[in-house]
Amino acid sequence: MSSQNQRINEFRIRLLHWFRDHHRKLPWRETQDPYKIWISEIMLQQTTVQAVLPYYRKWEKLFPDMESLSRAPLQRVLKAWQGLGYYQRARNLHKASRIMKDKFEGKIPSDYDELKKLPGFGPYTTAAIMSFAFDKTYPVVDANVRRVIIRLRRIRQKASPDDKALLPFLQTQLPLKKSCHFNQALMELGALVCRPKNPRCLLCPVTEFCQAYQTGEQEVIPPPKKRNYKKIEAVVGIIRKNSQILIQKRPSSGLLAELWEFPGGKRATGESLEQALDREIKEELSAEVAEKKFLTKVHHAYTQFQVDLYAYECRLKSEPRFNTRQRWVTLRAIRRYPVPSGSAKIIKFLEQREKIKHQA
Ligand code: SF4
Repeated sequence: MSSQNQRINEFRIRLLHWFRDHHRKLPWRETQDPYKIWISEIMLQQTTVQAVLPYYRKWEKLFPDMESLSRAPLQRVLKAWQGLGYYQRARNLHKASRIMKDKFEGKIPSDYDELKKLPGFGPYTTAAIMSFAFDKTYPVVDANVRRVIIRLRRIRQKASPDDKALLPFLQTQLPLKKSCHFNQALMELGALVCRPKNPRCLLCPVTEFCQAYQTGEQEVIPPPKKRNYKKIEAVVGIIRKNSQILIQKRPSSGLLAELWEFPGGKRATGESLEQALDREIKEELSAEVAEKKFLTKVHHAYTQFQVDLYAYECRLKSEPRFNTRQRWVTLRAIRRYPVPSGSAKIIKFLEQREKIKHQA
């Protein structure tokens, strides 16, 4: 064996032994079911394991297999996803489950080219399913793996390198047999040891292979990403008719598509919150606000933006214009509707207020 092959072999052995002894026991690692592995992979994208665990467990009960997911109405799927963000992923899961039911007898195809044609199967997901569900030799590059390789190879670029630039290295390291364990080990190393901040190099099984560690640059490679969150201020009206509240469904495409919310919208430049509320209610419901009372302000950071949401109790001068995307529902019934997380916080406020009223 050449010295380079010996080195690759040693790297694999150290990584795999570490993984055997230190990996987290997670429900999607205890199953061979491609459907469950697929669900977990979609949930885990840009979301932490801790955040995903309760969603995954609930999902297992609601939609235990492809059949149950494909038969479920989209609104039920969106409700189960509520709070995880990136709702397009839930829509794609639902859409892909219906295609797999019709075209592949409810099974996930084990062919890379078939798989990547399905909604939501980008390069990462396709490779992950090929590797974790079917143990085929595909390198899997997520944010953790990307960071580990950048440090191992001491890649000092300002912008994060393209995955294509990392693949040749990864392919040389990937064993032909049980490559799924190797992929998972590298991901786990990134999650537990080679963390974005304060990597725990003293616990790392591959320090002697790490060029960033050898030069003391592990803290500065890769450079931290600057997030420029767009900040939005928006107003919503809580409009009541007897014991019911008006909610409306967002458009079927675009941001937070098909979720339900209270009428309202963004504050325009130069407008006061109250002026924004009057304008939004007029635009959306063709009605004028007769009285309004500030109720609460909530803050929520979505992936693409942060919002300060101001809720007002409103009485209108006339009946609002009604369309098929609107509903009058009781506060109790709103729980059944999928809503964006900002609206969920307002609903929680309203529920607490009702509770206090009943106790008084
Ligand atoms: S030595 Fe440190 S920087 Fe290098 S791979 Fe291990 S944890 Fe990451």
